[in-house]
Amino acid sequence: MALNRKELEDEIIEQYLETDGCIPWIIGYSGGKDSTMLLQLVWYALMRVPKKKRIRPIHVVCNNTLVENPKVLNYVETALVNIEKGAKKQGFPITVNQTTPAIEDSFWINLIGKGYPAPNSMFRWCTERLKIRPTTKFILDKINEAGEAIILLGTRESESSARGKSMKKHEIKGSRLRKHHSLPNASVYTPIKKVDTNEVWQYLMAAPSPWGAKNHDLVTLYGNASSGDCPLITDVSTPSCGQSRFGCWVCTVVSKDKSMEFLIENGEEWMEPLVDLRDFLHDTINRDHPKYEEKKLEYRMGTRRNGAKGLGPYHPKWRRYILHSLLKAQKAIDEEKTGYKLITNQELVAIQVTWHRDDIFEYSVAEIYKEVFDKEFAFQSEVDQTLLKEKELLKESCLPDKGDYQLINQLLTLQKSKTILMNKWGLHKDLENKLDEYLEPSREYVY
Ligand code: SF4
Repeated sequence: MALNRKELEDEIIEQYLETDGCIPWIIGYSGGKDSTMLLQLVWYALMRVPKKKRIRPIHVVCNNTLVENPKVLNYVETALVNIEKGAKKQGFPITVNQTTPAIEDSFWINLIGKGYPAPNSMFRWCTERLKIRPTTKFILDKINEAGEAIILLGTRESESSARGKSMKKHEIKGSRLRKHHSLPNASVYTPIKKVDTNEVWQYLMAAPSPWGAKNHDLVTLYGNASSGDCPLITDVSTPSCGQSRFGCWVCTVVSKDKSMEFLIENGEEWMEPLVDLRDFLHDTINRDHPKYEEKKLEYRMGTRRNGAKGLGPYHPKWRRYILHSLLKAQKAIDEEKTGYKLITNQELVAIQVTWHRDDIFEYSVAEIYKEVFDKEFAFQSEVDQTLLKEKELLKESCLPDKGDYQLINQLLTLQKSKTILMNKWGLHKDLENKLDEYLEPSREYVY
């Protein structure tokens, strides 16, 4: 059956104008072919809705795992800027949002800091942390604001039979919406569920991008049109995560990153250090390797993080090795030239803190950084500078009561030190102790 673009748009218009136009739509956009088609269809449909009836807010949300394929990230970020500008120009009630994992959920803090083994299909700890949690938080925030939300996904039944079954399971009879399997007050609407892969490509080649992107660039990014997308992930059963052109560059759930290899073959040689590091990580967990039994104990500790006997996290020396390799890759790809940062300064600091919490004192992130870049790790001095400025402001606003300044300063220091340790264990008690000290009349405060 040939794809009927008008019918799809008509259905979207009908759904958009459904009685309760105040329930926001949340459109999961990954930059991949399916979510691009979905957003384009909604866009063209909105153009046909009279201005005064465009009252339902639409939030376009895109998740950045912080370990995205750099080439894809670049493409997606440009698209997001254009979508925002285009929507403003059209007067659409569309906002564009990017979510990222919380610092404690970062890929590198878990892998290099805590020593979690590179993910595989048996222990895919990353999807929840990098994709589900940030997106879920965004959806819940919108539900809290509006009471309900409708999530629009570009998922398609023909993508995989598991996906098709799961989509059918949550269907509501007589409705185009289905219940979200775990988020109360959230429904899911999948306007392109019946569209097959060829039709998606046909549509994208025929319908120009209304926000000015070149859909032909998507073909280049995919390399071939048969690979899957990494859609907005709201559950771990999503089969395409890790098999996709739009997955993380560190993904070891697949044995080869065909996407990066394709890009390298087509002139993006600068990505080679990334493939090398990914392949090394894959090697540490590759069960099919003939020497896997020997290898696993070489890389991994014999005790789990909870103290139980069993294959545990990476040995500290391998965590150090991976950090060193990552920074070497960062140096090789030259952030100033490519604009791509493989790890943030905040993550580096958090890795050091995590090592200390794991009683790893023999390795220093600052020393490893200096070894690779031949310069000091400047992050701490940046933080110190910021803190100094904050303190001056605080001091001014507390005058003439020096005691107030001293107390607030101590409380902030305590809060900061606990935050960087990524939880607030003991914070309550420490705050109480400080307040007790403050209430002692004999105590003298000095600047
Ligand atoms: S793409 Fe791979 S590394 Fe990224 S969240 Fe999915 S399974 Fe994990």
